[in-house]
Amino acid sequence: MDGAPPTIDVAANLATVKARTAAAARAAGRTADAVTLVAVSKGHAAARARAAVEAGHRVFGENRVQEAAAKWLPLRAAYPDARLHLIGPLQTNKVREAMALFDVIETVDRPRLAAALAGESARIGRCPALFVEVNTGEEPQKAGVPPADADAFIALCRDTHRLPVVGLMCIPPPDEEPALHFALLADIARRNGLAGLSMGMSADFETAIRFGATHIRVGTAIFGERPAH
Ligand SMILES: *Cc1c(COP(=O)(O)O)cnc(C)c1O
Repeated sequence: MDGAPPTIDVAANLATVKARTAAAARAAGRTADAVTLVAVSKGHAAARARAAVEAGHRVFGENRVQEAAAKWLPLRAAYPDARLHLIGPLQTNKVREAMALFDVIETVDRPRLAAALAGESARIGRCPALFVEVNTGEEPQKAGVPPADADAFIALCRDTHRLPVVGLMCIPPPDEEPALHFALLADIARRNGLAGLSMGMSADFETAIRFGATHIRVGTAIFGERPAH
């Protein structure tokens, strides 16, 4: 090995993931357009993200506000219809910048953040679509509201803060059967009348679609392994 990065054909990978998504949706009795593919370009150079936009893809996920701004402000100047989802933790001091940049924020998970989002939406008169992140594995080090607190937190966001919560998001523990977590997330969404379900990554997006995912977040299967920092 000479350490050179492997060549990645982003357009071909995208086509493969989209075909697998459509097949999984059909197998679950759903239509392909019921599932939005969020192409996770975090950790990759702008050139790789650009390859996906040039191949016609328009919905992307990033996990850091600063990195997303550097990569996407120029790309969005050329492709104004590109849509950005924040899929990483959001600090309250970054709320203003995140709301200016992202179309969807998938990681709403604590009262202080909900209050900050409400304050900024009152100031600017609009708010991105929001997903509440649920820590379905109840992992202490992980972001997300515990399942037992989800109903109350969703109510706080919607009723107290009037925030546009459209769904729930989860990241199952890597060493557990993801289906259990997808089922749990779907159950919490159902009893709260939420239509959106952001779940499933490169290793398990077909399972997630079977359990009702409306948004899958796929990075590695499209862009290759993320370079180590
Ligand atoms: C990185 C990341 C993904 C993409 O994971 P892959 O395994 O590369 O598909 C999805 N969701 C979140 C929240 C992530 O941080």
